[in-house]
Amino acid sequence: MASALSDKLSRLVKQMRGQARITEDNVQDMLREVRMALLEADVALPVVRDFVARVKEKALGQEVMGSLSPGQALVGIVNRELAATMGEGVSDINLATQPPAVILMAGLQGAGKTTTTAKLAKHLIEKRKKKVLTVSGDVYRPAAIEQLKTVTAQAGAEWFPSSPDQKPVDIARAAIDHARKNYFDVLLVDTAGRLAIDEAMMKEIKELHAAVHPVETLFVVDAMQGQDAVNTAKAFKEALPLTGIVLTKLDGDSRGGAALSVRQVTGAPIKFAGVSEKIDGLEVFDAERHAGRILG
Ligand code: GDP
Repeated sequence: MASALSDKLSRLVKQMRGQARITEDNVQDMLREVRMALLEADVALPVVRDFVARVKEKALGQEVMGSLSPGQALVGIVNRELAATMGEGVSDINLATQPPAVILMAGLQGAGKTTTTAKLAKHLIEKRKKKVLTVSGDVYRPAAIEQLKTVTAQAGAEWFPSSPDQKPVDIARAAIDHARKNYFDVLLVDTAGRLAIDEAMMKEIKELHAAVHPVETLFVVDAMQGQDAVNTAKAFKEALPLTGIVLTKLDGDSRGGAALSVRQVTGAPIKFAGVSEKIDGLEVFDAERHAGRILG
């Protein structure tokens, strides 16, 4: 476990050898380093504070077992708490409903919604053996509709046409109707995003949600957004009952602290991670592995 840690943390772990208990005195430096590591990973400050306080409370007074040092024991607690906060176990897409199961994709423009829609289509076809239809409700950007058409073909799914002169709710209803008549198991609804949170956009996606009764409402968020991810997540959480998160662009440089922030703010499980621009660049999110990455 220590191999996944920053040099500084590893050094502190070593310094604390031979002490039998975790105390205020001997963990102070460690907690400071953990705090720094989380901030460097772009976890939002209030989330860091909460997290460190929780770890401290869990750790204080704990006897250190066997050959562990208090440092190693604390790192264990930090790792477990990180993984637990980001969600335990694997949670795939919920399809437990009368088909077609509607999945609504939400998020800012550029977060990776359209790409993720196609990646999910491929995942559901290959891993769950489903018949999948996609539709775009982005009536503001004809290019986005075309983009979905292209990536849907790459995924081996079917695409339902829409056009900028239609209302998103009407598009979604027509797509559901088509899906039902043609025995599709799943309908993925891609939506319009703006560059920043915008009231009109939130109103539109709320109406869309109310009209299509999705079994999953996925919040797609760019891991590179860092600290800003918190505000975006708050706004989407207030507008929609989110059932899951897809964290995209984890192949970038970021240490992925957004995962912790977004999970804490929304309470929704992180279901998938986007790890490349390619259609097969989607992985089931692994909280334990991600905890190691955040600690650096
Ligand atoms: P949307 O506006 O939310 O629909 O976002 P797009 O799906 O169009 O994605 C925006 C950009 O991010 C595109 O250039 C995608 O290729 C890229 N992208 C999406 N997901 C990932 C990912 O997981 N990794 C990388 N490297 N790029 C991604």
